[in-house]
Amino acid sequence: MKALVYHGPNNVQVDDKPRPTIQSPEDVILRVTSTALCGSDLHLFHGTVQGMEPGQTLGHEFMGIVEEAGPAVEEVKIGDKVVIPFNINCGRCWYCRHELWSQCDRSNPKGEVGGAFGYTQVLGGYDGGQAEYVRVPFANTVATLKVPENIKADEQVLFLSDIFPTGYFGADMANIQPGDDVAVFGAGPVGFFATMSSFLRGAARVFSIDHWPTRLDRTKDLGAEIINFDNEDPVERIKKETSGKGAICIDAVGYEAVGHIGNGNGRSSKDGSGNNNNYNNNGHDHSKVSKPAYEPANPLQVINWMSQAARKYSTISIPGVYGASYDQFPLGQLFNRELQIRMGQCPVKKYNEQLLHLIEVGRVDPTKIISHTMKLDEAPDAYDIFDKKEDATKIIFKP
Ligand code: NAD
Ligand code: ZN
Repeated sequence: MKALVYHGPNNVQVDDKPRPTIQSPEDVILRVTSTALCGSDLHLFHGTVQGMEPGQTLGHEFMGIVEEAGPAVEEVKIGDKVVIPFNINCGRCWYCRHELWSQCDRSNPKGEVGGAFGYTQVLGGYDGGQAEYVRVPFANTVATLKVPENIKADEQVLFLSDIFPTGYFGADMANIQPGDDVAVFGAGPVGFFATMSSFLRGAARVFSIDHWPTRLDRTKDLGAEIINFDNEDPVERIKKETSGKGAICIDAVGYEAVGHIGNGNGRSSKDGSGNNNNYNNNGHDHSKVSKPAYEPANPLQVINWMSQAARKYSTISIPGVYGASYDQFPLGQLFNRELQIRMGQCPVKKYNEQLLHLIEVGRVDPTKIISHTMKLDEAPDAYDIFDKKEDATKIIFKP
């Protein structure tokens, strides 16, 4: 079968691999009908995540039809179409029994966090779904979101595998209440769904911060007020728009954030925090090469902005992925403004049924984020296109 395989940093290829087989009584083999490319795949693609080994099939956002089922599978049958959450959960450990699905204690013998599809040895080394077939373990728990009859296109429900629940998780961790003003950093797929979810929870205003016009256009369509950080300082703008109060902040960017080098534009430490511009640039000395418009990685850029733009005493919500160790962290700012932080992997099963119902009745249309539908054979090109961000808002594959 065809599978999109990691060969090393910035090198993915479509390889011919053996079809997966049932390995345990609770496994199903899924024939993938649709799968998507995620910002989390880009972290792997860049080779910046620990435990990524050549040979791993990528992809954690997928859905398909049950082709084979082990003898202990009761919740689904051959021929069912299901959307699979990216986290792998056994359904029986203490964490699963408490619906803390992302922290399953049994699905990942290799580490402390629960297992996930297509996401490094550290998360269990499970092959992913950017392939024609995928093995789904613990199917009685993992493969239970059946696609209802009235859903006609995969595109309507595919994002229940990750980014719609993850965007909702961002709004939930921030405890968005009716009438809140919200700032969502990042207008990629997760930022799009965090914006949508903030409005679903009754946000009065949502500020969407990014620097790609094509992406900001999508969040603007949802009703967000857009802030292009190339042109203005997001902290100053959010403070101004909220009469100095600040907004509830969601980080839908993660550690591969870029930061402005240009004119300082409010990002010096003129507020006295002393934290701005102390970004970890991974030891690269950019003074010897022609200056890029942006630092390639400014892991604390968004954390710094949020520590200043957040409404005092609010919770900062971080669905964006952080994984490496950083030198600088705005602890003083967070302490003084009495901010709390919530972050982590989205427990997809906590939200996916409710969100499916919103799609079924037509309250929301997740397909609006899709910019490209491509063949799996074209996946290596898709990684380059999505990585550039300029034209692509979300890419899906039809294996
Ligand atoms: P993406 O890379 O497509 O989008 C990220 C966006 O952030 C881009 O549009 C980029 O221009 C923007 N950005 C970069 N620096 C910025 C800054 N300083 N301020 C504002 N915007 C900035 O990724 P995505 O698919 O939208 O995912 C976003 C993050 O969420 C990633 O870190 C991804 O790994 C993570 N994620 C987490 C979970 C979870 O369970 N917690 C699940 C899915 C994705
Ligand atoms: Zn994802």
